Amino acid sequence: MKNSLAKARPLPSITLDDVGGIPEEMKEEIFQTLAILKDPERSEKIGIKPPKGILLYGPPGTGKTLLAQAIAKEMNASFFSTSGSAFNEMYVGVGASRVRSLFQNARKQSPAVVFIDEVDALAGKRKPQGGGDESEKTLTELLVQLDGGHSNDGILFIAATNRKDMLDEAFLRPGRVDFSFNVPLPDTKGRREIIDIHTRGKKLASNVVASFDTLADSTSGFSGAELSSLFETASRRAVRNGQDMIEKSDLDFALDRTILGSTSRTLKDP
Ligand code: ATP
Repeated sequence: MKNSLAKARPLPSITLDDVGGIPEEMKEEIFQTLAILKDPERSEKIGIKPPKGILLYGPPGTGKTLLAQAIAKEMNASFFSTSGSAFNEMYVGVGASRVRSLFQNARKQSPAVVFIDEVDALAGKRKPQGGGDESEKTLTELLVQLDGGHSNDGILFIAATNRKDMLDEAFLRPGRVDFSFNVPLPDTKGRREIIDIHTRGKKLASNVVASFDTLADSTSGFSGAELSSLFETASRRAVRNGQDMIEKSDLDFALDRTILGSTSRTLKDP
């Protein structure tokens, strides 16, 4: 596991066009941030410091990891990806040394994005009296690494969480986390975009395509991950039945499956 933390992962060719349902203002801010990151010299001339850290927060399956990958791809950066829980170690100093080597390796391969999912497991609120336990030492090392880098050293730190409220305030300070973006569950328009993304290149019966507006309307509360899995399930069923395209019955089957899989949801009548 130590080695996997230290290595950059090859990235699939994802761009921001592969992420649907992102609010317009957020997209605009991401494009501005990317322009600064891609041309740090110009930004410095103008007097803008490139951001060092971005926080993406929101419910599970809304595309936070996808967005981090797309940002790295747009920056042409190496992608170091791990989860906050990978630093939870009972042995003295191990968590902190993992944080150190993650950033050291990223600096060697800059430009690089260091992505930490479930960052609340690493940067949760510290006890007010300061317990000084291992997890606090690991967080302190993360803060040291975030403070230690220069704003133009080619490292962008991206953290993701479902629980922003759990994060330590020191971690959220500007200069460590410069932007926080809420990545919400998609609205109807967003769901329609995500349906288009996940049906690109798929062979679909015409009544399936004709049902997309209704589908977007009726799937309130679905995340991008659930919409993606809907079309995966429908595609697998079509293959299993020896069809050469996805039929409406495959989609209906997949919808039933997804709804049954979620105890808290019923389809909204459009
Ligand atoms: P978690 O909080 O559970 O880590 P996440 O927000 O990081 O989830 P992702 O891992 O990015 O969610 O999403 C899982 C998959 O779901 C993606 O690889 C993609 O196929 C699909 N998906 C999720 N959100 C979107 C979106 N906004 N647009 C397109 N596809 C999406």
